Order: sequence, then structure tokens, then C-alpha cells
Amino acid sequence: MSIQWYPGHMNAAKKKAAEQMENIDLVIEVVDARLPEASTNPMVDELRKFRQRPCLKILNKIDLADPVATSQWADFYNAQDGVTAYPMTTKKPADVARVLDLARRLAPHRSVPTKPLRIMIMGIPNVGKSTLMNALLKKRVAKVGDEPAVTKQQQKLYLDKNTILVDTPGMLWPKIALPTDGLMLAASHAIGSNALIEEEVAVYLADEMLRYYPDLLVARYGFKEIETFDGIAVVEGIAAKRGFRQKGGDFDFEKASHTFLGDYRSGILGRISLETPASRAERLAAHEAE
Ligand code: GDP
Repeated sequence: MSIQWYPGHMNAAKKKAAEQMENIDLVIEVVDARLPEASTNPMVDELRKFRQRPCLKILNKIDLADPVATSQWADFYNAQDGVTAYPMTTKKPADVARVLDLARRLAPHRSVPTKPLRIMIMGIPNVGKSTLMNALLKKRVAKVGDEPAVTKQQQKLYLDKNTILVDTPGMLWPKIALPTDGLMLAASHAIGSNALIEEEVAVYLADEMLRYYPDLLVARYGFKEIETFDGIAVVEGIAAKRGFRQKGGDFDFEKASHTFLGDYRSGILGRISLETPASRAERLAAHEAE
């Protein structure tokens, strides 16, 4: 497995995040609701606990996630100290509109003009940080804070007169704690994958869907006798249905993998979560036993 991520960035990112944490009151951590643990970085928790900052944990992209799994994750995170979970999608203005209210409730000692609530959005790439930030900024009263920026990287944007948003989201790299994390992140497109890996990711996703969402595979691709399929058969089946063949006549596995992953990422396949608190615990236990 050679999914690429860049540990070299880690130290610089951690240093920056630690500095930023000192000057804020609340962390909004955005994760992907379909893979909340695989798409978190434990550094957020480590740093915010050290500074005793509360966290609004946004389980974003619920439009793509399985509602049952999402609700289990919300319970899971709400049971954690200092954490409030908020399942939402940036696609719904009504969901975005609630973010500030929830944020204020988490730091009730702030949110007055002399002590504005200072918020930083954090998360790994592609979970929706910029989209959320832009959506929040559309609602703001003033365009840019009147205080001079401390540094170019840390401008302050007023969301309203009592609430400041640090202008750059704290970008962190995923921490791949389990081998399946890399596969989940690649399936959701949080990390890139080359053609070879894409085939592996497609087979992984197919196996997961066979286990948890076989009906959705049948609905999309019209497979018959899916009980006899394994992950490879699913991808080959897509190649067969779509007529994806190589010059010699063999199935074009690469093209079928790409199509399948595209269908997953766009939500055409349905609302599919890649982990639940139970499946995560199971995988962690199995990994530790190895
Ligand atoms: P960032 O790297 O964390 O800043 O992520 P972006 O804000 O650039 O979003 C990454 C991708 O996810 C973009 O294609 C967004 O349109 C998409 N996205 C963001 N929020 C949602 C959501 O709630 N639902 C869906 N389906 N897509 C979303």
C-alpha cells in the first residue's frame, strides 16, 4: 500500500496549530461524516485539550452519508469531553445558519464586544472547510475586521460584531492510524490516488458495499446474483455492463474502477458511510491484536 501523504508537513503544521490555538476560544473541526475517525487528525484534540478549548465537531457532507451511521457518530462525539457534534451539509443554508449559534453556546463567556468569540476552523483537506468558511462569511456583517491583521496569514474576519473567524482554516494532514484509513480517504477523495491504487480502492469500496449496502449496488448497476460476488467481481461487472474493454478484449478494470469511485464520490450510489463507531472499534481491536 503506497498511498501518499506528506509527514514532512506535519511538524510545521503542528507548530502553527499550537500557536493559533492560544489565540482562539473555540475550534470548529470539520470531518467527513462518512469517515469521521479516518478523516480526523488527533492533533486537533491533543492541542485543544492542552489549551482547554471546546470543539464544535462538524460531521460534514451528511447528504452523502448514511443517516443511521451519522446519528451513531453524533452520539459518540457528544459523549466526549468538551465536544459538541453537529451533523450538517454546507449545501443547506439552514444548516450553515446554525453553526454560529452552536459555537456561541460552547463558549458562553465570550461573544461580547469586549471579548469577541474567536473561532478557528480546522480539518484535513477536502472535508469542506473552505466551503463552510465562505458560507459563513456570506452572512457576516462586516467584510473584513477593522483591526489591522497581525500577520498576513492570520487575518481576522468578523462574522458579526461579537464573533471573529481566523481567516485561514487550520489545514492538517490525515493520520493514517489503520490501513483501511488510507483506503477510505482515497475513496472519499481526501487524498489522491494513482491508477494502480485506484483499482485497490475500488475493490475495497466494492467489498464494503457488498457487506453493508448490497442493495445499492444492485440498484445502480443491475447486478444479478450479487450473493456470489466479491469486490473484484463487482468492478468487473461494472466493466461488463458499461462495455469497458481493453484492446485485447479483457475488461478495462482501471476505467471501471474510476467510474465506480466517481459514482461513489458524487453520491449517485446513495448515502454510504465507510465506518461506524462499532466498525471502527472492531477494526482497532483487530489491528491491535495483530
Ligand atoms: P477543504 O479542502 O476542506 O477546504 O474542502 P473544500 O471546501 O474545498 O471542499 C471539498 C469538496 O467537497 C468540494 O468539491 C466541495 O464542493 C465539497 N463539499 C463541501 N461540503 C460539502 C457537503 O456538505 N456535501 C457535499 N456533497 N459536498 C461538499
